[in-house]
Amino acid sequence: MTRDAALALDAADPLRELRAQFELPPGVIYLDGNSLGVLPRATAARVQQVVRQEWGEGLIRSWNSAGWMTLPQRLGDKIARLVGVGAGELVVADSTSINLFKVLSAALSIAQEASGTRRVILSERSNFPTDLYIAEALARERGFELVLADADELPARLDHRVAVLMLTHVNYRSGRMHDMAALTHAAHQAGALALWDLAHSAGAVPLDLHAARADFAIGCGYKYLNGGPGAPAFVWVHPEHAERFWQPLAGWMGHASPFEFTPGYRPAAGISRYLCGTPAVLSLAALECGVDTVLAAEPLGGMAALRAKSLALTRLFAARVQATCPELVLVSPEDDARRGSQVCFSHPELGYAVVQALIARGVIGDFRSPDILRFGFTPLYLRFVDAWDAAEHLREVMQREEWRRPEFNQRQAVT
Ligand SMILES: *Cc1c(COP(=O)(O)O)cnc(C)c1O
Repeated sequence: MTRDAALALDAADPLRELRAQFELPPGVIYLDGNSLGVLPRATAARVQQVVRQEWGEGLIRSWNSAGWMTLPQRLGDKIARLVGVGAGELVVADSTSINLFKVLSAALSIAQEASGTRRVILSERSNFPTDLYIAEALARERGFELVLADADELPARLDHRVAVLMLTHVNYRSGRMHDMAALTHAAHQAGALALWDLAHSAGAVPLDLHAARADFAIGCGYKYLNGGPGAPAFVWVHPEHAERFWQPLAGWMGHASPFEFTPGYRPAAGISRYLCGTPAVLSLAALECGVDTVLAAEPLGGMAALRAKSLALTRLFAARVQATCPELVLVSPEDDARRGSQVCFSHPELGYAVVQALIARGVIGDFRSPDILRFGFTPLYLRFVDAWDAAEHLREVMQREEWRRPEFNQRQAVT
């Protein structure tokens, strides 16, 4: 492989035109779209329009005339196309953490009704902390127990005590991807429900929640969906379960008829009962621009084409770094079928400083404590030559020991 070969791959890339949808700052190779996606070109003008016209001129009339009220459902229908569910099954609201609270609570209620003896929420020890914290708090409140296992032990830990298997599809740190269909099947065989967090999969890998027979799913708007910092999240409940329980945050937007202003709660039909309060219109408008950047791939092969390119990018980067930086240990799976859209390496001491030295060179990845150098690959805007050049920068940082500089060893709040 040579740099010219990478340029040739770009020239032949059927998705290359999608990069023009983004405002990428010059001189930056952005390998952190799994943490905060890049700003789409359409977003600033769209948010400006919502502010100036819909809010400024339309004022309160825009709840009807600009369709603000139905944004959670309309945008939900767009995301539904990316995760393999039908229109009307998914809504956009709140944050991933809050949506997890809603669906995990509903899952515990279903389990409790079916059997009083299933008292365990089973999850992975290396799951993203907010998922574990929410589960821990709910378990305390509801008299359940949160049990953590390593990924490979999960099937064996699915016994008659497990109420819910709660997993993140692609691990935020290692990039390891679970077999959603197989684990969901194992959970069901054991009599448990399966809840999936798609924070690192939605917009990054093809998903088919119905084919996998999942029960609940949540996901994040600001990672591969490019919705902007703190963008709203999404929530999906299998239509079989959607009306079985009230979710615990029974706000008026989840009411069957909020503008009757009646004192009693009557949940809305279907997934809309998973809404809580007033939609965050500005954030939803920005998120829609982000989701549209992913849907723009549909005529070019959609998620399958994005996945093929993502795998080729991560293969190229991992191979180059392994060939040139023997000090770094590849942590993400080499097997394509088990790797999400990121590549990670570990180093026992230098991880943080190496990432800082790379950022100073315009190659933006991130560090995940205690020892992980993490590089996310968003095929919508990354080129093969970016993967090549990023690996070259990393090689130079290691060979020239740039990580020694004191400013690269000063920890900031967000790593
Ligand atoms: C990013 C991420 C979140 C983020 O949750 P917020 O409520 O948006 O802070 C949650 N879970 C996982 C697995 C994530 O990767």
